[in-house]
Amino acid sequence: MDKSKVYFVGAGPGDLELITLRGYALLQKADCVIYDGLVYPLLLECCRRKPELICVRKRTGAHSYRQDQINQLIVQKAQEYACVVRLKGGDPGMFGRAAEEIEACVRAGIDFEIVPGVTAATAAAEYCGFFLTDRAASSQVVFVTGREAPEKEDSSIDWGLLGRFDGTIVFYMAMGNLESIARTLIENGKDPYTPTAVIENATLPTQRQAEAELSAIAGRCAEAGLSAPAIVVIGPTARIRPETQWFAHKPLFGTHVLITRDEEGNHLFSHKLYEQGAQVSFLDTIQTVSLIEQPSVAEALSQMSAYDWVVFTSSKGVRHTFKKLRHMGSDARLFGDVKIACIGRQTHGALLMHGLQSDLVPEKYTGSCLARTLIERDNLSGKKMLLLRSAAAPDYLPAAFRQAGAEVTDVSVYTVVAKQAAPETIAEIRKALDKGRIDWIPFTSSSTVRSFFEQIDPQLVRLSRARIVSIGPMTTEALSQLGMKADLEAAEHTIDGILDALILQNHD
Ligand code: SAH
Repeated sequence: MDKSKVYFVGAGPGDLELITLRGYALLQKADCVIYDGLVYPLLLECCRRKPELICVRKRTGAHSYRQDQINQLIVQKAQEYACVVRLKGGDPGMFGRAAEEIEACVRAGIDFEIVPGVTAATAAAEYCGFFLTDRAASSQVVFVTGREAPEKEDSSIDWGLLGRFDGTIVFYMAMGNLESIARTLIENGKDPYTPTAVIENATLPTQRQAEAELSAIAGRCAEAGLSAPAIVVIGPTARIRPETQWFAHKPLFGTHVLITRDEEGNHLFSHKLYEQGAQVSFLDTIQTVSLIEQPSVAEALSQMSAYDWVVFTSSKGVRHTFKKLRHMGSDARLFGDVKIACIGRQTHGALLMHGLQSDLVPEKYTGSCLARTLIERDNLSGKKMLLLRSAAAPDYLPAAFRQAGAEVTDVSVYTVVAKQAAPETIAEIRKALDKGRIDWIPFTSSSTVRSFFEQIDPQLVRLSRARIVSIGPMTTEALSQLGMKADLEAAEHTIDGILDALILQNHD
């Protein structure tokens, strides 16, 4: 084993993309990640090598490590693994007790590196649309811990200095002492009218903020129910203006979406939703099982030139087909003159990735529109057609082609099976529905509908405030078979179509 190293990495304040490139690269090569409760769980999905994951500080709950135990754990894991990442919220050095952890490494003769991160103070201000400094109004900034009660006799905080300080004062960990902090500052000469902003869960889709003059801020936060983790910014620049609140103005900000595809699909979808500011919960309802080892697949592919048309109805179908071609030592040239039809933009995009253009993409991304367009475009009588798709796909398409006189070979390159979520996940989702915390549940296929409602009681959804958005007519039909109504159906039958429908709805 190479000599081990511990990397003290700043995870940033919450938003996944606020980790540095170096931090991201280290997560990908980590053998073990020791992380804090403040680290956003999705960040851990960047870990490529499935490292041992250890959470050392939960915000609530019983499993909380003492600092000396964390120090010990870091040393122990560095003896076990080559690359240990100690992932800390924000910047590792900002009120993070990283110095003690590094000291433990020094004592044990363990090599280490430090990777800075975006600290909560600057991020919180900027995600509210203001800056900590201003050429005209604030030329100095001070970062203070709010943990120490100001009443403490031997406080290490110089309240006299802070009272006179005319720049920006940022408090971390101040929610428990906010009232006495504000009072003590005022007693020490700070203007009670000083603008003050408090930002909870900064940079996350759950970000909330409050502002008031210093003397009223504690009351305002109590009214709004703001709590930790939050940043308190006191100073002339701490003004939250509607015109510059870019983050809270994202189209889906404040909307909580429960996504229900397979793991990979959920991953892709969640990023698109985050981009629009939505909060996302996950339930992986199905999983894909490859069928490319079935003899029928190799047989059909090796006779490709005998077909007139090959039809793809999903990007997954394309990916599985090309995987098989690779295994067979073949590639896109196999398609030769065979015409290619695909159901929509995403499938078309997947084909392009393999260097193939589609000869036909219907105007609407549905099986019926695909069949209609193809039948209009070509006389299918006596034509040989190869469908490379899911075993779970409905019979509609081959039936329509056969009726038009084609000879159809329907080959399954993959199938989807229901996936049972962990009981804790189900319990959490039930609770969120029950408490009215979920706004939208999108469905992208009949199989996800069936698997979802096998795990979540339809009545719970009906009684909740959650509304359902369906990708297209087949999925809407699957919903209605279970007595559920799609409140919204995407005009374009893709993930982007769902996104557009949600954004449009939010605007109204
Ligand atoms: N090392 C971290 C700070 C750790 S101290 C950093 O550089 O940001 C923990 C405190 O950081 C919290 O009590 C809160 O005051 C602040 N904090 C961390 N993440 C935050 C977030 N997303 N929103 C608001 N405050 C946050």
